[in-house]
Amino acid sequence: MIKDAKRKKVTILLPAYNEEASFPLIKENMTKVMAENPDYDWEFLLVNDGSRDNTLQQMIKLHNEDPEHWSYIDLSRNYGKEVAMMAGFDYAEGDGLIIMDSDMQHPINVIPEMLKYWEEGYDDVYARRKSSKESWMKRKSSQLYYRLLQKMTHVPIQKDTGDFRLLDRSCVEALKQLRESERNTKGLYSWIGFKKHGIEYEQLARQEGETKWRFMQLVELAVNGLTSYTVAPLRISTVLGLCVSLLAFIYLVYIVVRTTLFGDPVAGFPTIMVTILFLGGVQLLSLGIIGEYLGKVFTETKGRPGYFISSYNGKKRKE
Ligand code: UDP
Ligand code: MG
Repeated sequence: MIKDAKRKKVTILLPAYNEEASFPLIKENMTKVMAENPDYDWEFLLVNDGSRDNTLQQMIKLHNEDPEHWSYIDLSRNYGKEVAMMAGFDYAEGDGLIIMDSDMQHPINVIPEMLKYWEEGYDDVYARRKSSKESWMKRKSSQLYYRLLQKMTHVPIQKDTGDFRLLDRSCVEALKQLRESERNTKGLYSWIGFKKHGIEYEQLARQEGETKWRFMQLVELAVNGLTSYTVAPLRISTVLGLCVSLLAFIYLVYIVVRTTLFGDPVAGFPTIMVTILFLGGVQLLSLGIIGEYLGKVFTETKGRPGYFISSYNGKKRKE
């Protein structure tokens, strides 16, 4: 193959946490990608997100076998997929960047289609899951979540899409500037804008190992998604507080009038309890919501770098 100055380079970013078992498949798939798309230069950028198994050793092996195409970043600990991707954005060399899961749940056969739309001028070709093999509960809750998010924000959000997408360099440069440490990258893709196009794909079953998400992590991601986009929940607490106070005031007037006219034959213990508990609940909710945002301000004002790396062996120098 002749090296052509105009040839574009595409980086495939593979964040991995305890994925040692997936490496034979990763190697097989990436070799295929390279063979089937010879018009591009390929870089496979692995990010080891503090794995406890032999993931790093596997990465080193791949790099040593073919240093031209394989590089890796070894993060100093487990930061979570969102931050692992941020590190990937910083070090990716390509004119385009494709993000894939290391468990190879994302089929490589949609890559040519992504490249096609990229060549047509789209900056963000995102893949939408066609049929999801997830449980009914997970599906329904994600549906509800998207609808809620969409109602509360003015940024259009792509449904049923994850991180599997091709980003143009312009998007990557934009994402690199968004340095918040509690990240919801799915929201950031929408926030930065640029020309988007969706394609469909069938999610494959996880081949090796098990899913790395715990339920609480998903809840955290969802809350992060809401609070990093919009202050609408703060408004909810204001409105709720206002309504409750108004109702309480009307009730108060009613009680005063009734007591003056008819006296107070029985002490109103139940009503008092209900009122106190209800108001207490609303206050706690509002405090919680404010707390979520305050917590965000706290973590962001510390201004810590998003991650530290133990080693990196590609060519890119971080600006
Ligand atoms: N992952 C990561 N850090 C983490 C958790 C996950 O880099 O702390 C990676 C993981 O190795 C995989 C991708 O993120 O490549 C998606 O994770 P997983 O397959 O467990 O999620 P699911 O497909 O179940 O949503
Ligand atoms: Mg997976």
